[in-house]
Amino acid sequence: MRMRTIVLAALTFLAANGAARANEHGGVGPDEALARLAQGNRRFMAASLNHPDQGAVRRIEQAAGQTPFAIILTCSDSRVPPEVIFDQGLGDLFVIRVAGNVADDIGIASIEYAAEHLGTHLCVVLGHERCGAVTAAVKGDALPGHLLNLMEMLAPAVAATSGQPGDRVADAVTANVELTVERLRECAPILNGLVDEGELQVVGAEYDLDTGEVVFTQPVTRTVARRAPAPAASRAEPVAASPASAHGGH
Ligand SMILES: [Zn+2]
Repeated sequence: MRMRTIVLAALTFLAANGAARANEHGGVGPDEALARLAQGNRRFMAASLNHPDQGAVRRIEQAAGQTPFAIILTCSDSRVPPEVIFDQGLGDLFVIRVAGNVADDIGIASIEYAAEHLGTHLCVVLGHERCGAVTAAVKGDALPGHLLNLMEMLAPAVAATSGQPGDRVADAVTANVELTVERLRECAPILNGLVDEGELQVVGAEYDLDTGEVVFTQPVTRTVARRAPAPAASRAEPVAASPASAHGGH
């Protein structure tokens, strides 16, 4: 009888332990996910990296299945690797990288997969300072090959900031992030539903190449904003939908 009790206890422990692992990231809410990213970025800025989740134990643990706590859509720029600038490891971030951090159909499909099937509750659209793709789009030069497609994807951000005073590239980088965030929030039939149900928060952010800082610009979704106003201490503000946003396309 005693042996049976021990075996049952061991099985219960293993089951509970397995469940805890399975829910480790899938159960991470958007606020907690945002906090983890911000904390990791502070470690990166301070050159005090923890290199979490990068050992053999983590590799084996994650081999059976992933539960990333955040989706990151960012630029292919070699200076903006999410796992490095947020000090994360294996299985932590579901990353989509494409020049200019634009959301094309395949990128959106990737985000849908992570949000719906992996249960990730935070999606960050991360632009960066002096982005080469955005710079090319602002210049408006004729470009060969498939680069033209990328310029077309960036054209709404360039148009939205045309004629504004200040740094045109910086303004277009910001506009591109805002428009992409709005596009993802409105994207039917999957992402918009998850946002409305409070299951997914889409936020914008920009990375400073010089300091290494990531500044989150849009931490509050429309849905969350309706249910609970942002705390007064929040550094960023909800951003109103831009009239130039691409609504309903996806
Ligand atoms: Zn870039």
